[in-house]
Amino acid sequence: MFEVSCASCQASFDYNPDDYIHLCPFCSAGFIIDPEEGAKDLIGDHYIIPSTIQKENLEGIFNDWITKRYHNPGKIKSEFNILGSYGVLLPYWVISAEAHTFWSGHSAKKNLYPGRVRDLASGFLKEEGRFSRRYRWAILARKSPKEHWGLERLHHPRESVNVDWEGFPLDETMGVQDEGLKAIYEAKVPFKYEQTNEIAVASIQTRETSAVARAKDQINEYHRRMVKTKVGTLYEHRTEIEVVGLHIVHIPFWYIRYSFSPNSLFKFFTTVRERRILIQGYTKAVLDAELPLNNSDKVMTNMVVCGILGFISLTLSVFIHPLFYILFVMFIIIVGLSTWKIINREKIDPEIIKGHENTEPA
Ligand SMILES: [Zn+2]
Repeated sequence: MFEVSCASCQASFDYNPDDYIHLCPFCSAGFIIDPEEGAKDLIGDHYIIPSTIQKENLEGIFNDWITKRYHNPGKIKSEFNILGSYGVLLPYWVISAEAHTFWSGHSAKKNLYPGRVRDLASGFLKEEGRFSRRYRWAILARKSPKEHWGLERLHHPRESVNVDWEGFPLDETMGVQDEGLKAIYEAKVPFKYEQTNEIAVASIQTRETSAVARAKDQINEYHRRMVKTKVGTLYEHRTEIEVVGLHIVHIPFWYIRYSFSPNSLFKFFTTVRERRILIQGYTKAVLDAELPLNNSDKVMTNMVVCGILGFISLTLSVFIHPLFYILFVMFIIIVGLSTWKIINREKIDPEIIKGHENTEPA
């Protein structure tokens, strides 16, 4: 362990050299230590969004959520079981930026005169446009977004674009807040350990320079993909991003682990395992969840049912009529495809399994 004295109150405490910003447990000040000269630099813009959820509220939130999704609300008490829960305050670099995009491309003209063959030379229409957007783009200030489940794809854009980045626009991502709550960004207060309600505070590991670079990359890619939905062939896309502000904000999240064990016949088709729900600690919105029945369960059901039908068809083909043999072959093909699908899933699964290793922080 390494010991350091606080840049603000001079109290000494143990610190982790992997952290970029060190937080004083006594006065909540944050500072950066220059690795060469050992000089300490206090940081100003560090905020926290206090959790509006207490551990005792989680059961209520879980019940509301599952009641809307499960076909048999009367059985929820006996079939669902909360295994555990924890809250964590995660540090995000929140980058206020203005993004200005120019694009040009061409699209195929709509054929306005039915029956007339489109003239190829003039069949395309040149199009161009520009638009601007403002963001408070959030980038996790931890080395790995896999540390806690569900953080890798929090952005759900309004446009139909494919997201493969982990950052997100803060205001539109964290769920619709309850009436009477301020917008999430407006709810921030200067960081003080007294505001954490004893929820674990994850330390700040990444530099602002890398966060800004990642935010710019992600916004640029987001705009490029947005433009591609507007035009047939994209010639040119240019997004200029101006960073106008930068804060570090600790944002609260809660996890619930639950199990599902159906009383009905369906229990033979589901795998008993732990499932997770990610809840925003301020807006109380469910941001991501592993559903009681996933695709793999459905494919498994399909496989078993078709296997039984296949066996019946084979029996019938022997005793009743040879044509049933065709049905048998069809069912076997379905079983084969289902098996193939499940085997392929196994190849993707390690990432999910890796997520399972996340234990609740002490
Ligand atoms: Zn201090």
